[in-house]
Amino acid sequence: MMKNIGLIIELNNGKIKETNFGMITLARAKNTELFAIVIDADTGVLKEDLESFGITNIIDVMLPEGQQNNPVICAKAIITAIKVFNISLVCGLSTAKGKDLLPRIAAFMEAPLIMDCHAIDPEQNLVKTSQYSGKTIATIKLTGEVLILGVRPNAIAPLKAHTSARIVPVELDEKNLVSKGFKVIKTSETDESKNINLADADVIISGGRGMKNADNFDILSKCAEKLTAAVGASRVAVDAGWVPYSMQVGQTGEKVSPLVYIACGISGSMQHFAGMKTSGMIIAINTDATAAIMSNCDYYVKADALEIIPELTKLL
Ligand SMILES: Cc1cc2nc3c(=O)[nH]c(=O)nc-3n(C[C@H](O)[C@H](O)[C@H](O)COP(=O)(O)OP(=O)(O)OC[C@H]3O[C@@H](n4cnc5c(N)ncnc54)[C@H](O)[C@@H]3O)c2cc1C
Repeated sequence: MMKNIGLIIELNNGKIKETNFGMITLARAKNTELFAIVIDADTGVLKEDLESFGITNIIDVMLPEGQQNNPVICAKAIITAIKVFNISLVCGLSTAKGKDLLPRIAAFMEAPLIMDCHAIDPEQNLVKTSQYSGKTIATIKLTGEVLILGVRPNAIAPLKAHTSARIVPVELDEKNLVSKGFKVIKTSETDESKNINLADADVIISGGRGMKNADNFDILSKCAEKLTAAVGASRVAVDAGWVPYSMQVGQTGEKVSPLVYIACGISGSMQHFAGMKTSGMIIAINTDATAAIMSNCDYYVKADALEIIPELTKLL
Protein backbone atom coordinates (compact mmCIF):
# COMPACT_ATOMS: atom_id res chain seq x y z
CA MET A 1 0.00 0.00 0.00
CA MET A 2 1.20 3.51 -0.83
CA LYS A 3 2.37 5.49 2.19
CA ASN A 4 1.89 9.27 2.28
CA ILE A 5 4.85 11.17 3.68
CA GLY A 6 4.49 14.82 4.69
CA LEU A 7 7.53 17.08 4.63
CA ILE A 8 7.26 20.39 6.45
CA ILE A 9 9.23 22.81 4.31
CA GLU A 10 11.15 25.57 6.09
CA LEU A 11 11.47 28.83 4.25
CA ASN A 12 13.73 31.82 4.52
CA ASN A 13 12.39 35.03 3.02
CA GLY A 14 9.94 33.04 0.90
CA LYS A 15 12.65 30.75 -0.49
CA ILE A 16 13.19 27.07 0.34
CA LYS A 17 16.15 26.55 2.67
CA GLU A 18 18.67 24.30 0.95
CA THR A 19 18.68 21.80 3.82
CA ASN A 20 15.04 20.83 3.03
CA PHE A 21 16.24 19.07 -0.13
CA GLY A 22 18.41 16.70 1.92
CA MET A 23 15.38 15.91 4.08
CA ILE A 24 13.25 15.17 1.00
CA THR A 25 16.03 12.95 -0.38
CA LEU A 26 16.13 11.05 2.92
CA ALA A 27 12.37 10.45 2.92
CA ARG A 28 12.16 9.11 -0.65
CA ALA A 29 11.46 5.40 -0.80
CA LYS A 30 9.53 2.78 -2.74
CA ASN A 31 5.73 2.81 -2.37
CA THR A 32 5.64 6.31 -0.95
CA GLU A 33 4.11 9.54 -2.11
CA LEU A 34 5.72 12.79 -1.01
CA PHE A 35 3.63 15.75 0.18
CA ALA A 36 5.41 19.05 0.80
CA ILE A 37 3.59 21.03 3.48
CA VAL A 38 4.23 24.70 2.74
CA ILE A 39 3.03 27.39 5.14
CA ASP A 40 2.21 30.93 4.06
CA ALA A 41 4.16 31.03 0.83
CA ASP A 42 3.69 31.46 -2.89
CA THR A 43 3.64 27.74 -3.72
CA GLY A 44 3.63 28.46 -7.46
CA VAL A 45 7.10 29.98 -7.16
CA LEU A 46 8.41 27.00 -5.16
CA LYS A 47 6.84 24.29 -7.35
CA GLU A 48 9.73 23.74 -9.74
CA ASP A 49 12.29 23.32 -6.95
CA LEU A 50 10.08 20.86 -5.08
CA GLU A 51 9.36 18.89 -8.26
CA SER A 52 13.04 18.48 -8.94
CA PHE A 53 13.40 16.51 -5.69
CA GLY A 54 10.47 14.13 -6.13
CA ILE A 55 7.57 15.97 -4.47
CA THR A 56 4.26 15.07 -6.14
CA ASN A 57 1.86 17.06 -3.96
CA ILE A 58 2.32 20.56 -2.57
CA ILE A 59 -0.05 21.32 0.28
CA ASP A 60 -0.69 25.04 0.41
CA VAL A 61 -1.44 26.10 4.00
CA MET A 62 -2.44 29.71 4.64
CA LEU A 63 -2.62 30.68 8.31
CA PRO A 64 -5.22 33.21 9.43
CA GLU A 65 -4.10 36.83 9.39
CA GLY A 66 -1.96 37.74 12.40
CA GLN A 67 -1.20 34.11 13.34
CA GLN A 68 1.95 33.71 11.23
CA ASN A 69 4.29 33.44 14.20
CA ASN A 70 2.10 31.39 16.50
CA PRO A 71 3.55 27.86 16.68
CA VAL A 72 0.35 26.43 18.23
CA ILE A 73 -1.78 27.66 15.34
CA CYS A 74 0.86 26.49 12.88
CA ALA A 75 0.95 23.02 14.50
CA LYS A 76 -2.84 22.76 14.38
CA ALA A 77 -2.94 23.81 10.71
CA ILE A 78 -0.36 21.15 9.88
CA ILE A 79 -2.40 18.55 11.78
CA THR A 80 -5.38 19.43 9.58
CA ALA A 81 -3.21 18.81 6.49
CA ILE A 82 -1.96 15.50 7.96
CA LYS A 83 -5.55 14.32 8.47
CA VAL A 84 -6.94 15.56 5.15
CA PHE A 85 -4.17 13.95 3.12
CA ASN A 86 -3.94 10.77 5.17
CA ILE A 87 -0.27 11.32 5.97
CA SER A 88 1.27 8.66 8.20
CA LEU A 89 4.88 9.88 8.42
CA VAL A 90 5.73 13.56 8.99
CA CYS A 91 9.24 14.93 8.67
CA GLY A 92 10.46 18.39 9.61
CA LEU A 93 13.90 19.79 10.28
CA SER A 94 15.53 19.66 13.73
CA THR A 95 16.17 23.41 13.54
CA ALA A 96 15.14 25.99 16.14
CA LYS A 97 11.78 26.29 14.36
CA GLY A 98 11.39 22.53 14.05
CA LYS A 99 12.22 22.02 17.71
CA ASP A 100 9.39 24.38 18.56
CA LEU A 101 6.88 22.99 16.10
CA LEU A 102 7.36 19.20 15.87
CA PRO A 103 6.95 18.39 19.59
CA ARG A 104 3.70 20.41 19.59
CA ILE A 105 2.35 18.40 16.64
CA ALA A 106 3.39 15.15 18.33
CA ALA A 107 1.81 16.17 21.64
CA PHE A 108 -1.50 17.25 20.06
CA MET A 109 -1.67 14.01 18.05
CA GLU A 110 -0.26 11.79 20.82
CA ALA A 111 2.14 10.55 18.17
CA PRO A 112 5.70 9.26 18.67
CA LEU A 113 8.46 11.77 17.93
CA ILE A 114 12.17 11.26 17.26
CA MET A 115 14.35 14.32 16.76
CA ASP A 116 17.71 14.68 15.06
CA CYS A 117 17.37 11.65 12.77
CA HIS A 118 20.00 11.09 10.09
CA ALA A 119 18.59 7.94 8.47
CA ILE A 120 15.01 6.88 7.80
CA ASP A 121 13.51 3.70 6.38
CA PRO A 122 9.92 4.77 5.67
CA GLU A 123 8.86 1.26 4.64
CA GLN A 124 9.90 -0.33 7.94
CA ASN A 125 9.30 2.77 10.13
CA LEU A 126 12.93 2.62 11.26
CA VAL A 127 15.02 5.69 12.08
CA LYS A 128 18.56 6.33 13.25
CA THR A 129 19.58 9.04 15.64
CA SER A 130 22.73 9.58 17.67
CA GLN A 131 22.69 9.34 21.46
CA TYR A 132 25.01 9.98 24.40
CA SER A 133 26.97 12.75 22.65
CA GLY A 134 27.31 10.62 19.54
CA LYS A 135 28.85 7.63 21.34
CA THR A 136 26.05 5.37 20.12
CA ILE A 137 23.66 5.39 17.23
CA ALA A 138 20.16 4.24 18.12
CA THR A 139 18.07 2.43 15.53
CA ILE A 140 14.46 2.95 16.58
CA LYS A 141 11.33 1.25 15.31
CA LEU A 142 8.26 3.45 15.60
CA THR A 143 4.70 2.30 15.85
CA GLY A 144 1.54 4.36 15.59
CA GLU A 145 -0.89 5.77 13.06
CA VAL A 146 1.14 8.95 12.55
CA LEU A 147 4.88 9.19 13.22
CA ILE A 148 6.74 12.49 13.59
CA LEU A 149 10.44 12.87 12.80
CA GLY A 150 12.90 15.74 13.10
CA VAL A 151 15.72 15.44 10.58
CA ARG A 152 19.21 16.70 11.37
CA PRO A 153 19.88 19.65 9.03
CA ASN A 154 22.53 19.10 6.35
CA ALA A 155 23.00 15.46 7.40
CA ILE A 156 22.13 14.21 3.92
CA ALA A 157 23.34 15.45 0.55
CA PRO A 158 20.39 16.36 -1.70
CA LEU A 159 19.87 14.18 -4.78
CA LYS A 160 17.54 15.27 -7.55
CA ALA A 161 14.63 13.10 -8.79
CA HIS A 162 12.35 14.93 -11.19
CA THR A 163 8.56 14.57 -10.97
CA SER A 164 5.59 16.78 -11.52
CA ALA A 165 3.50 18.06 -8.64
CA ARG A 166 0.00 19.37 -8.08
CA ILE A 167 -0.71 22.22 -5.70
CA VAL A 168 -3.55 21.50 -3.30
CA PRO A 169 -4.86 24.06 -0.83
CA VAL A 170 -5.99 22.88 2.58
CA GLU A 171 -9.18 24.29 4.05
CA LEU A 172 -8.65 25.40 7.64
CA ASP A 173 -11.53 25.61 10.08
CA GLU A 174 -10.75 28.67 12.21
CA LYS A 175 -12.79 27.17 15.07
CA ASN A 176 -10.08 24.51 15.45
CA LEU A 177 -7.24 26.99 15.29
CA VAL A 178 -7.30 28.13 18.88
CA SER A 179 -4.15 28.82 20.83
CA LYS A 180 -5.14 28.15 24.43
CA GLY A 181 -2.87 29.62 27.07
CA PHE A 182 -0.90 32.07 25.04
CA LYS A 183 -0.98 34.53 22.21
CA VAL A 184 1.94 35.97 20.25
CA ILE A 185 1.66 39.75 20.58
CA LYS A 186 4.60 40.84 18.48
CA THR A 187 7.62 39.35 16.75
CA SER A 188 10.48 41.72 16.12
CA GLU A 189 13.76 41.04 14.39
CA THR A 190 16.98 41.20 16.35
CA ASP A 191 20.48 41.87 15.06
CA GLU A 192 21.09 38.12 15.32
CA SER A 193 18.39 37.40 12.74
CA LYS A 194 20.60 39.01 10.08
CA ASN A 195 23.31 36.43 10.70
CA ILE A 196 23.43 33.15 8.84
CA ASN A 197 21.66 30.46 10.79
CA LEU A 198 23.98 27.75 12.16
CA ALA A 199 21.73 24.93 10.99
CA ASP A 200 21.69 26.17 7.39
CA ALA A 201 25.30 27.16 7.01
CA ASP A 202 27.64 25.40 4.59
CA VAL A 203 30.58 26.84 6.49
CA ILE A 204 30.80 27.54 10.23
CA ILE A 205 33.63 29.31 11.99
CA SER A 206 33.45 28.83 15.76
CA GLY A 207 35.34 30.30 18.67
CA GLY A 208 36.08 28.96 22.12
CA ARG A 209 37.96 30.02 25.25
CA GLY A 210 40.98 30.71 23.04
CA MET A 211 39.19 33.79 21.63
CA LYS A 212 39.77 35.36 25.09
CA ASN A 213 36.86 37.86 25.11
CA ALA A 214 33.64 39.03 23.45
CA ASP A 215 35.30 41.68 21.28
CA ASN A 216 37.54 39.11 19.62
CA PHE A 217 34.44 37.39 18.20
CA ASP A 218 34.32 40.34 15.76
CA ILE A 219 37.45 38.83 14.22
CA LEU A 220 35.43 35.69 13.49
CA SER A 221 32.43 37.67 12.21
CA LYS A 222 34.60 39.56 9.72
CA CYS A 223 36.10 36.32 8.44
CA ALA A 224 32.63 34.71 8.34
CA GLU A 225 31.38 37.53 6.14
CA LYS A 226 34.09 36.74 3.57
CA LEU A 227 33.35 33.02 3.76
CA THR A 228 29.54 33.41 3.81
CA ALA A 229 29.77 31.43 7.00
CA ALA A 230 27.85 31.34 10.27
CA VAL A 231 29.65 32.03 13.55
CA GLY A 232 29.39 29.41 16.29
CA ALA A 233 30.89 29.02 19.74
CA SER A 234 31.83 26.55 22.43
CA ARG A 235 29.92 26.47 25.69
CA VAL A 236 32.76 28.20 27.51
CA ALA A 237 32.35 31.24 25.24
CA VAL A 238 28.59 31.22 25.84
CA ASP A 239 28.88 30.73 29.60
CA ALA A 240 31.37 33.60 29.77
CA GLY A 241 28.70 35.82 28.19
CA TRP A 242 30.81 36.59 25.12
CA VAL A 243 28.13 35.36 22.70
CA PRO A 244 24.46 34.33 22.98
CA TYR A 245 23.36 30.74 23.57
CA SER A 246 21.90 30.55 20.05
CA MET A 247 25.53 30.31 18.84
CA GLN A 248 26.49 27.32 20.99
CA VAL A 249 27.48 24.16 19.16
CA GLY A 250 27.52 20.85 21.00
CA GLN A 251 25.68 18.38 23.12
CA THR A 252 23.60 21.06 24.82
CA GLY A 253 23.68 23.48 21.90
CA GLU A 254 23.03 23.28 18.17
CA LYS A 255 23.92 20.09 16.28
CA VAL A 256 25.39 21.07 12.94
CA SER A 257 26.67 19.35 9.80
CA PRO A 258 28.22 22.01 7.58
CA LEU A 259 30.53 21.22 4.69
CA VAL A 260 33.37 22.90 6.57
CA TYR A 261 33.72 23.55 10.32
CA ILE A 262 36.55 25.79 11.50
CA ALA A 263 37.22 25.56 15.24
CA CYS A 264 39.28 28.45 16.64
CA GLY A 265 40.64 28.18 20.15
CA ILE A 266 38.43 25.19 20.90
CA SER A 267 40.00 22.17 22.61
CA GLY A 268 37.59 19.60 21.16
CA SER A 269 35.77 18.26 24.21
CA MET A 270 33.48 15.28 23.78
CA GLN A 271 30.48 17.57 24.35
CA HIS A 272 31.58 19.99 21.63
CA PHE A 273 32.25 17.15 19.21
CA ALA A 274 28.76 15.80 19.81
CA GLY A 275 27.42 18.82 17.95
CA MET A 276 29.78 19.05 14.98
CA LYS A 277 31.49 15.76 14.32
CA THR A 278 29.33 15.01 11.26
CA SER A 279 30.78 18.09 9.49
CA GLY A 280 32.20 17.37 6.05
CA MET A 281 35.63 18.77 6.90
CA ILE A 282 36.97 19.93 10.25
CA ILE A 283 39.75 22.49 10.45
CA ALA A 284 41.26 23.36 13.83
CA ILE A 285 43.27 26.44 14.75
CA ASN A 286 44.88 26.00 18.14
CA THR A 287 48.10 27.01 19.89
CA ASP A 288 48.36 23.58 21.52
CA ALA A 289 49.30 20.73 19.18
CA THR A 290 48.22 18.22 21.84
CA ALA A 291 44.64 19.53 22.12
CA ALA A 292 42.08 16.76 21.43
CA ILE A 293 40.71 18.54 18.38
CA MET A 294 44.11 18.42 16.66
CA SER A 295 43.94 14.64 16.35
CA ASN A 296 40.26 14.64 15.41
CA CYS A 297 40.25 16.97 12.45
CA ASP A 298 41.08 16.91 8.74
CA TYR A 299 43.49 19.85 8.88
CA TYR A 300 44.98 21.84 11.71
CA VAL A 301 46.99 24.99 12.04
CA LYS A 302 49.12 25.29 15.17
CA ALA A 303 48.87 29.02 15.65
CA ASP A 304 47.32 31.87 17.58
CA ALA A 305 43.79 32.27 16.20
CA LEU A 306 43.81 35.97 17.08
CA GLU A 307 46.70 36.48 14.68
CA ILE A 308 45.90 34.03 11.93
CA ILE A 309 42.18 34.77 11.43
CA PRO A 310 42.69 38.48 10.57
CA GLU A 311 45.43 37.42 8.11
CA LEU A 312 43.07 34.88 6.55
CA THR A 313 40.32 37.52 6.28
CA LYS A 314 42.75 39.85 4.51
CA LEU A 315 43.67 37.11 2.03
CA LEU A 316 40.02 36.25 1.39
C1 LIG B 1 26.68 18.14 30.42
C2 LIG B 1 27.63 19.00 29.64
C3 LIG B 1 27.23 19.53 28.44
C4 LIG B 1 28.10 20.33 27.70
N1 LIG B 1 27.68 20.84 26.49
C5 LIG B 1 28.56 21.51 25.74
C6 LIG B 1 28.20 22.00 24.45
O1 LIG B 1 27.04 21.88 24.01
N2 LIG B 1 29.14 22.62 23.72
C7 LIG B 1 30.42 22.83 24.18
O2 LIG B 1 31.23 23.42 23.45
N3 LIG B 1 30.78 22.40 25.40
C8 LIG B 1 29.89 21.77 26.19
N4 LIG B 1 30.27 21.37 27.42
C9 LIG B 1 31.56 21.86 27.98
C10 LIG B 1 32.73 21.03 27.52
O3 LIG B 1 32.95 19.95 28.39
C11 LIG B 1 34.02 21.89 27.49
O4 LIG B 1 34.23 22.47 28.75
C12 LIG B 1 33.99 23.02 26.45
O5 LIG B 1 33.60 22.51 25.21
C13 LIG B 1 35.37 23.62 26.33
O6 LIG B 1 35.31 24.78 25.56
P1 LIG B 1 36.61 25.33 24.82
O7 LIG B 1 37.13 24.29 23.92
O8 LIG B 1 36.24 26.66 24.26
O9 LIG B 1 37.58 25.64 26.05
P2 LIG B 1 38.90 24.88 26.50
O10 LIG B 1 38.66 23.43 26.68
O11 LIG B 1 39.44 25.64 27.65
O12 LIG B 1 39.89 25.02 25.26
C14 LIG B 1 40.41 26.23 24.83
C15 LIG B 1 41.40 25.90 23.71
O13 LIG B 1 41.86 27.11 23.13
C16 LIG B 1 43.24 26.96 22.84
N5 LIG B 1 43.77 28.34 22.76
C17 LIG B 1 44.01 29.21 23.76
N6 LIG B 1 44.41 30.39 23.25
C18 LIG B 1 44.42 30.26 21.91
C19 LIG B 1 44.71 31.14 20.84
N7 LIG B 1 45.07 32.41 21.05
N8 LIG B 1 44.61 30.67 19.57
C20 LIG B 1 44.25 29.39 19.32
N9 LIG B 1 43.97 28.51 20.29
C21 LIG B 1 44.03 28.95 21.58
C22 LIG B 1 43.80 26.13 23.97
O14 LIG B 1 44.99 25.49 23.57
C23 LIG B 1 42.65 25.15 24.20
O15 LIG B 1 42.82 23.98 23.41
C24 LIG B 1 29.40 20.59 28.19
C25 LIG B 1 29.81 20.04 29.41
C26 LIG B 1 28.94 19.26 30.13
C27 LIG B 1 29.40 18.66 31.43
